[in-house]
Amino acid sequence: MQKDTQLFDLIHKELERQRNGIELIASENFTSLQVMQAMGSVPTNKYAEGYPGKRFYGGCEVIDEIETLAIERLKKIFNASWANVQPHSGAQANTAVFLACLKAGDKILGLDLSMGGHLTHGSPANFSGKNYQALFYGVKKDTGTIDYDQMEATAKAEKPKMIICGASAYSRDWDYQRIRSIADQVGALVLADIAHPAGMIAKGLLNDPFEHSHIVTSTTHKTLRGPRGGIIMMRHDFDNPFGVKDPKGNIRPMSALLDLAVFPGMQGGPLEHVIAAKAVSFGEILTDDYTAYAKQIIRNAQAMSAAFVKRGYHLISNGTDNHLMLIDLRNKNLTGKKAQETLDKAHITLNKNAVPFDDKSPFITSGIRVGVPAITTRGLLEADMEPIVEMIDTVLSDTANEGRIAEVKSRVHSFMSKFPLYPELG
Ligand SMILES: *Cc1c(COP(=O)(O)O)cnc(C)c1O
Repeated sequence: MQKDTQLFDLIHKELERQRNGIELIASENFTSLQVMQAMGSVPTNKYAEGYPGKRFYGGCEVIDEIETLAIERLKKIFNASWANVQPHSGAQANTAVFLACLKAGDKILGLDLSMGGHLTHGSPANFSGKNYQALFYGVKKDTGTIDYDQMEATAKAEKPKMIICGASAYSRDWDYQRIRSIADQVGALVLADIAHPAGMIAKGLLNDPFEHSHIVTSTTHKTLRGPRGGIIMMRHDFDNPFGVKDPKGNIRPMSALLDLAVFPGMQGGPLEHVIAAKAVSFGEILTDDYTAYAKQIIRNAQAMSAAFVKRGYHLISNGTDNHLMLIDLRNKNLTGKKAQETLDKAHITLNKNAVPFDDKSPFITSGIRVGVPAITTRGLLEADMEPIVEMIDTVLSDTANEGRIAEVKSRVHSFMSKFPLYPELG
């Protein structure tokens, strides 16, 4: 077969883009080479509907070992009792939980998308807002932190079946104990979606959601630095304390209901090459190198947020506990859209983001979200944060000055050339 140079040239172009730029999208990261090798490997050829030991196809004996290894490593990372590694993405993981635990029309209570929540936590644009009756809590206007009193009042008034915590653009830690006590008062399940901060939770650097949540979901490609994918886990309560019924009306363990919801409820054949890559990344997370990485993420985020504050930027909640910060640009007379587009020209990549109580549309927004997991993987340390903020500030202080933007772009390239990315790939 002839090599598809047209496509592989494009992949090389993308590699160069990733190498040259400063990647500040909070949900992105750079996997190891062995994670990518596992992803591009022969399990992609295999159908394996079902679970280890219970497949609908022959020839699954090696696949069973791969998937079991992924499950066992994941359970070890989070001291979990049960895990499902098949969801194709974080959204699929949440979909499966809803399918297992809720009936259409049930009430759910999640963080408002415009306050940092995720589409799958009840947004009207998403299945979670269409199939279920979505209620929301937000953050407090003065502090920018979760309004637990509002969560409690709404829960008591509306009696939701599930309370969802976790966010895509929230820089502070969560009080899982308080959330569980609210849920217990109204008989709700707690779903903790740790898609963003999972890596720091894995190393005990943030509060532990597993002790107080019935179910925990995550992506595998954000701070966990694995392939694109989703996971579902439990530590306790997998024996179904609420008597949730399966489609036939039988009360089954939660673990069985969740497995059934992923397959055959929502997905067909699992992506076993991705599950292999998940296993590789889970192995990496169990090492001391990864512990050092997770600690460095927090140090870098602290250094970067201090550098922004020093230059007069308004950080929601005035700082960060985790890997990201949310910046309100209104005092700089800029929209999120303008900031994202102008920084893109200088090869500094981040995303526009609504800020709490935003007066602009989600396509414009008043803010940007800035995260450090990807640059931390490249080896950048605290001292590298100030020069990055200085470059961002130079671009944002004069967004019409094309000459200055071009000058920053070449500084970005020479800065990042000190931190090689995938040198093995030529
Ligand atoms: C990223 C994210 C997801 C969804 O992940 P995908 O893999 O993009 O579907 C779910 N929940 C939260 C809180 C997220 O930040």
